[in-house]
Amino acid sequence: MQAHGTMPVAWIHRPVGRWVAMARYFELVRHDGNRPLFSALEISIISLLAGLPLHVHVEGLRGTGKTTIMRGAKDILPHIERIKGCAYNCDPAAPHCPVHRNMTREEIARTGTEWVKMPFLEISHSAKIGTVVGSIDLGRLVDPSMPEAALLPGILPRANRGIVFVDEINRLADTSPELTDVLLDVMGTKPGRLQVEEVGFAAFEMPITLSVWGASNPDEEPGPLEDVRRQLSDRFDFLVTMGRPGEVDVVREILEIGVPARWGKGMHDGVAVCEGAVGQADPALHYADLLASRSRDLPGVKFPSTLVSLLAQAYVDFGLESLRAIEAMKLGALARATLEGRKEATVEDVKAIASLALRHRVDISTLTNILKFLDEKAANAREERETKVLAGGVAKEPTAPAEHGGSRGEGIERKGGSRSLSEAVGRLVCALRRSLIGKSDTRGAGCPAGPGDYGTAGGWGAPQGDGTLQQRGIRSGPGQGGSR
Ligand SMILES: [Zn+2]
Repeated sequence: MQAHGTMPVAWIHRPVGRWVAMARYFELVRHDGNRPLFSALEISIISLLAGLPLHVHVEGLRGTGKTTIMRGAKDILPHIERIKGCAYNCDPAAPHCPVHRNMTREEIARTGTEWVKMPFLEISHSAKIGTVVGSIDLGRLVDPSMPEAALLPGILPRANRGIVFVDEINRLADTSPELTDVLLDVMGTKPGRLQVEEVGFAAFEMPITLSVWGASNPDEEPGPLEDVRRQLSDRFDFLVTMGRPGEVDVVREILEIGVPARWGKGMHDGVAVCEGAVGQADPALHYADLLASRSRDLPGVKFPSTLVSLLAQAYVDFGLESLRAIEAMKLGALARATLEGRKEATVEDVKAIASLALRHRVDISTLTNILKFLDEKAANAREERETKVLAGGVAKEPTAPAEHGGSRGEGIERKGGSRSLSEAVGRLVCALRRSLIGKSDTRGAGCPAGPGDYGTAGGWGAPQGDGTLQQRGIRSGPGQGGSR
């Protein structure tokens, strides 16, 4: 089978069939202007599966296809395992909803589990708060001190462990401040929190893990989200700016719809890259499986201490305001490496994520300088690798064990960093990790013993727990593997 170490280039151009009622993900033509969006969404799905959602906002002019791509991504959403029939998509290993959270393992086993497609729900800017958050069913209310037991879950609780899409999010921020506040809570931490308030009852809150995907046209009323509600803009880990296709050939291809002969060829090129997907009818389904299995690897992907230092230095030197920026860069780089089937994030990953994570947070000249800074670091890293390869002919790869899962603390001081710098960076990262992982890190809130460990964030998948993180990527659930 073909190797799949990098993203399948063969998927880039795919004509759209006129006869297709709704655009399918793999039929959308990819070009330089929209490729970052495809990439950001796939990274977001991988990260969400591992329990740490990345929120994506895409800005672009009308007709550039941003909402089409976001809605099209429904095709490649993997399945998740939940407690049978749970409207909140309770993870069997870590039930959180009012119905299941106090159940024992045995009770959950008796209730059973099922595999369902990862939810994808939309919030319109005219939505009412009760529809989005939920409302109390007075007819079902038994104990007024426990109103959550009678909650009719709204869009957000039902989208738990999935995606919520908000088109024209700048308008929502303008016309619905209360819905915006709800999103701020949901997106504020990982996992987020959802507070339900109903007149006459005590407010209650529940944890919620979902990725918010938003789209907006900054040229239309009320203007860019950043100007409408800066706080909400900052909650988005990534901002993707949609570009127009710049090449005549690409535009021709977009126009050349309904050309089945070319489509068939394209499909096979793409499918060959998916694990075990050769000859399969639905590449989207198989790509969903690929994402699921890759996300299982995410907790083990290493983020080298040199990259940690790099992010810390960028944060300090360029006066970045929001720590979320470098958190998003770290998480995004890890997810990108995972998506490409690698075990370690590189400076190239950080570079690729930098624009997405910084565009809405710094001005253009700062962004340019940061990218230049990362370019230099990437060049240095390449040089060092080459030197290492040359030196490797003499000494037998002395650094290899430390790079790949060496014992705790090994390989920290590789590149001339002093112990004190390393420790300072460690402290910063410790704070980062805590804010990134949130309060629910049940596997010890303490920081690792050495900065060499920081790359393999111990809090991965904390909202769902260890067990399901393994299961989630396995495509053997009855609802998934069984149906094929
Ligand atoms: Zn439940």
